[in-house]
Amino acid sequence: RNMSKEGVSSSVFDTPPSDTIFAKMIRGEIKVDPVYQDDHVIVLKDINPQAPTHLLLLPKKAQIGLLRNASESDAETLGRLLTVAGNLAKEHNLEEGYRLVINQGTKSQQSVNYLHVHLLSGRQFSWPPG
Ligand code: C5P
Repeated sequence: RNMSKEGVSSSVFDTPPSDTIFAKMIRGEIKVDPVYQDDHVIVLKDINPQAPTHLLLLPKKAQIGLLRNASESDAETLGRLLTVAGNLAKEHNLEEGYRLVINQGTKSQQSVNYLHVHLLSGRQFSWPPG
């Protein structure tokens, strides 16, 4: 594989969103145990957590990798990602502090070409982010 200096494969964007592991999870081709789901959003635990709480919020219908490829019809689902994040933060008592992250592009270390929001909580974060 063609690895960049940051260790992120440059082939991330060669995989269409519909062929990514997240799309396969949403379609049920790979078994998952969702923390939450509704018509728009599915929430999974990150396999490699970077904080005591590390969830991934995935749009179910909007099969997009980069936000630049979102269309107007994705707007409701994209909005739902944030309202679900807020609800989860409340339900899981994370309101002392949590961080939402959307990595976009190679330099951000995006590693899956399917839009996802990281919800991280349970430790002190720094600013600026690493
Ligand atoms: O923002 P980025 O694309 O790097 O995030 C992808 C995330 O998906 C990573 O945090 C990684 O640990 C997670 N992941 C996962 N289960 C997989 C593959 C990746 O939770 N099977």
